[in-house]
Amino acid sequence: MHISRFPRIHFAHLPTPLEPLEKLSKLLGGPQIFIKRDDCTGLATGGNKTRKLEFLIGDALHKKADTIITQGATQSNHVRQTAAISAKLGLRCEILLEHRTGSDDPDYLENGNVLLDRIFGASIQVVPAGTDMDAVMEEKAQEVRKKGGNPYIIPGGGSNPTGALGYVNCAMELVGQLNDRGLNVDHLITATGSAGTQSGLVTGMEGTRSGIPVLGICVGAEKQAQEKKVFNLAKETAEFLGIPGSVSSEAVVAYGDYVGPGYGLPTEGMLEAVGLLAREEGILLDPVYSGKAMAGLIDLIRKGHFRKDENVVFLHTGGSAALFAYRKTFTS
Ligand SMILES: *Cc1c(COP(=O)(O)O)cnc(C)c1O
Repeated sequence: MHISRFPRIHFAHLPTPLEPLEKLSKLLGGPQIFIKRDDCTGLATGGNKTRKLEFLIGDALHKKADTIITQGATQSNHVRQTAAISAKLGLRCEILLEHRTGSDDPDYLENGNVLLDRIFGASIQVVPAGTDMDAVMEEKAQEVRKKGGNPYIIPGGGSNPTGALGYVNCAMELVGQLNDRGLNVDHLITATGSAGTQSGLVTGMEGTRSGIPVLGICVGAEKQAQEKKVFNLAKETAEFLGIPGSVSSEAVVAYGDYVGPGYGLPTEGMLEAVGLLAREEGILLDPVYSGKAMAGLIDLIRKGHFRKDENVVFLHTGGSAALFAYRKTFTS
């Protein structure tokens, strides 16, 4: 797949490392677990949105935008990374934060990613849960146009075919690393939310016929809704790339058993996973995405979902800045 025909600005630290989790693999007594360190993409404490933003911001500059408008939940990692790259490239950044969890904890409202958004100089508007975010972004864009500016709207999580190209590219990068090392991988596991990450990975893995299945662990939606969302975006992404029809609905699998009470709300499994990775491997996960995805992987290993001689790769999508917003969750 020929990705260099799309506009792109290179600022991610790539390739991200692929490392064995030796102690964790031994402790769980299951398959060999490897971790793909997309928490180390280099932009403002890293994370998966950086790969998407290389293509989204590339497109924005190609269209001569001067203002980036985007949205996310209060502790959005996507928003933080967007604010950072906008600052670097001299773009105005207007952000809408949806107060999705309803938490009134001052750490949740002002620390973690929100603190970083402010440090990066983004202009922030907080709106209640359930707001039609796309409609409000469009209103903002109209205001910018009225003042003579040229706005570029990035959807929540950067999840559209342009953003998903970042994860098509990640799939190719990972397959390259596996081939270089002679490593045969049986499963790739990732958190899945706004769906761009899993959609891009599936498109990349299917488009290259790698034979590596991708398993998404839901962080908000239930299984069927998430699979539909991922499949629709993967289909669009394949069309955008000029390889229509290369992703089948069977290639899209998401498990919805690890969400707990809802998006951004802690679970026992997440607490255990964050603790285990910190104490066994010195790696920081996050409370909203990678912590729940790792809780899913741990549970599946314990249930015997994988053979002991298999190799699995866990995609670390980042998000540790949000730990500071969940101080009470980890200390009480
Ligand atoms: C956004 C995000 C995800 C989910 O990726 P999507 O492309 O939205 O599905 C996973 N982990 C972290 C840390 C994120 O910020």
